[in-house]
Amino acid sequence: MREISTTSMPMPTIMRDFHLSTRDGRSHLVCTPLLVFGVIVATSTRSQQEHAAREGPLQGESRADGRRRLEHMFAPFLSAVGLAHRPLITLRQRHTNRCLVFDPSEGALWSESPPIGDAVVTRSSEVVLGIQTADCAPIFIFDPRTRARAAVHAGWRGTLGRIVERALAAMVAHFGTRAEDCYAAIGPTIGPCCYEVGPDVLEPFRREFPYAEAVIVAPTASGRARLDLVQANIHQLLACGLSRARIFTSGLCTACHPQLFFSYRRDAKTTDRTGRMLSVIGESSS
Ligand SMILES: [Zn+2]
Repeated sequence: MREISTTSMPMPTIMRDFHLSTRDGRSHLVCTPLLVFGVIVATSTRSQQEHAAREGPLQGESRADGRRRLEHMFAPFLSAVGLAHRPLITLRQRHTNRCLVFDPSEGALWSESPPIGDAVVTRSSEVVLGIQTADCAPIFIFDPRTRARAAVHAGWRGTLGRIVERALAAMVAHFGTRAEDCYAAIGPTIGPCCYEVGPDVLEPFRREFPYAEAVIVAPTASGRARLDLVQANIHQLLACGLSRARIFTSGLCTACHPQLFFSYRRDAKTTDRTGRMLSVIGESSS
């Protein structure tokens, strides 16, 4: 374990099940309780991209070369968390509730042209599953009995579409996972402090979830309220049979911590292009 370093930046005071590590000015978060299983769930911070941007564009980079840019941008992060040696599997995320099963024999194909979807499950320890976010919840499920795992991108649309439940159902169907054996980790997500939504979001949530009021914060007379995406997904994991003690969260709101995270909601006010953090699940070979 690397030591947690202090820097001149103000750092968050509330950290739950993740710890922040900084090396050479680049920081990342790691979910501590999962390390005992040899599983690394980690999230980059904006310092990763800012370093890559300072180093300049890729040689011969074209607009269509998003995949190479992604690998270039996050290579130091993957190296820092001990996952650089494994292929990174990502999705073309579209706020769907589509969950894919990754077959290792299709690895090259997936790397070349990632399929459209917002969740992926596999039992392969040879690959790293990655999710990109800037407010939405990056959620990972790990089953230590079968070594199956899931990576999920859950914004309000995916949450409404029960994408995390669908990912767990895919683990059960394909790998014989039992929900009660599983652990889950939810990375930095926009919090109920900052995520105000309108009736277009709240009404379908109220229709879909009997417990909706538990995840809707401070409703106003005008029909707006703040949504707690992390709690909404915790409710879904609990409904599937996970134990609350096995669901780990960072306790960090992306919008509240500009020194660490990109936030679509926060940054869209000042720029037309928001960066994304990369969150991953994988196994180091050592
Ligand atoms: Zn906040």
